[in-house]
Amino acid sequence: MDNNQIWQGVLGELELSLSKANFTTWFKETSVLLISNGEYVIGVPNGFTKEWLQNKYHKDIARALQNITSNRVTKITYEINKKNTAQAIDSLKPVARPVESFERKQNVMPSQEIQTGLNPKYIFENFIIGPNNELAKAAATAICKNPGKIYNPFFIYGGVGLGKTHLVQAIGNKILQDNKDAQIVYATSEKFINDFISFIRSKNNNNDSANFQKAYRDCDVLIIDDIQFLAGKVSSQEAFFNAYNSLFQNNKQIILTSDRPPKAISGLEARLVSRFEGGMVADVSAPDIETRKAILSTKCKEKAYNVPEDVLDFIASNVQSNIRELEGALNRVIARSQLSNSIPTLESCKTILADIVSAPSKQTTSSKEIIEAVASFYDIDPSDIMAKNRRKDIAWPRQIAMFLMRRELNKSYPTIGDETGGRDHTTAIHAYEKVKKELEKNDNLKQELEAIKQKMYVSSC
Ligand code: ADP
Ligand code: MG
Repeated sequence: MDNNQIWQGVLGELELSLSKANFTTWFKETSVLLISNGEYVIGVPNGFTKEWLQNKYHKDIARALQNITSNRVTKITYEINKKNTAQAIDSLKPVARPVESFERKQNVMPSQEIQTGLNPKYIFENFIIGPNNELAKAAATAICKNPGKIYNPFFIYGGVGLGKTHLVQAIGNKILQDNKDAQIVYATSEKFINDFISFIRSKNNNNDSANFQKAYRDCDVLIIDDIQFLAGKVSSQEAFFNAYNSLFQNNKQIILTSDRPPKAISGLEARLVSRFEGGMVADVSAPDIETRKAILSTKCKEKAYNVPEDVLDFIASNVQSNIRELEGALNRVIARSQLSNSIPTLESCKTILADIVSAPSKQTTSSKEIIEAVASFYDIDPSDIMAKNRRKDIAWPRQIAMFLMRRELNKSYPTIGDETGGRDHTTAIHAYEKVKKELEKNDNLKQELEAIKQKMYVSSC
């Protein structure tokens, strides 16, 4: 095993336990510089990463190293190494790079990624279609043929790791492939907000202001990922609203993603909600077993790595919650097998995935977790649910929590009353019946509950 192989294995481990954003931010440009007698020197791109790994991820790195090498790890140090490249993890998995800031944009060689924010690895050719995403995919294909003309805006929503980013970037990449001159801008809503803030700060600097306008108003296709993070950001919403209108009037394509339908984004201005709903709204949900298998086979082909059918079946049946986790599990099996120079077998796969499979995106939950997931979804404090407060914006989430305690945990009504701030059992019955009735006629609510359940059951997000 050479240093690089060891580090690949470690990254594979870490990737499973971290959110994608954290993994990409902190581990993208790391490598092992030196291994000697149980001592490891990890190369990092800058002092900030060094400090962060030391303080926050040291234990995880040590544990992963120990697992991978099965040797005693006596010491780990971190060293800034400018030459570190993304190559360490590139071969393991496609990684979306953060879009460069405007300042850098002017100084570096323009490449597709830097100019557009698109990761060329997200394309239609490697996007598997199943009942969970066929509507979204069909709309996406139609948009590529006729950007700005049919479905505008195009709004995709669904839980984490279900392919929203992949799909919207595939649209961008396809339009660019068909028309090299198309101006495509992909940004997360955080990036939009950051760009807006630097634009405000440098009002006197014409360059920056021109750049902001150009990026977000003068493009042919604007893709904003995870738009729910604009909620509550009044001036950024205003800036987005202006850009949106200007693009829309000029028949430019606008594409948005979110973890929930437009109406369910609290803190989003009504004028934006109604505009989003005026276009095409499509959801993506968790894939069924057939789709999961097809995804795994495609990923194996991409990596040119042969994994026996029964191993793929095992992974597909046991990792159900989302596609990111599915891919993570496959990467882990491949990395471990490569390290030990063996072909994965059902037995080895069971061992390698033991922790995931024995506690698969866990299947049990508690009242506390339900309350926390509901509160986080509706952007209120868990203590609000317990409080005597009767405000409508609190009462509804509280009723949802009661409903889920009954549905998911089969709790008795008196217990539910007790556990939501000492309420009467009739209140719990009323809440359950009310939500149940609403569910029968309201598809959005169904999606909301799915999103909340994902928060409850998916541990790694
Ligand atoms: P989201 O944006 O919904 O959180 P992503 O688009 O980041 O999810 O998808 C997570 C991972 O799963 C990515 O690596 C992506 O390539 C992969 N993926 C998602 N959906 C599919 C699909 N239908 N076919 C193949 N790969 C997929
Ligand atoms: Mg995404």
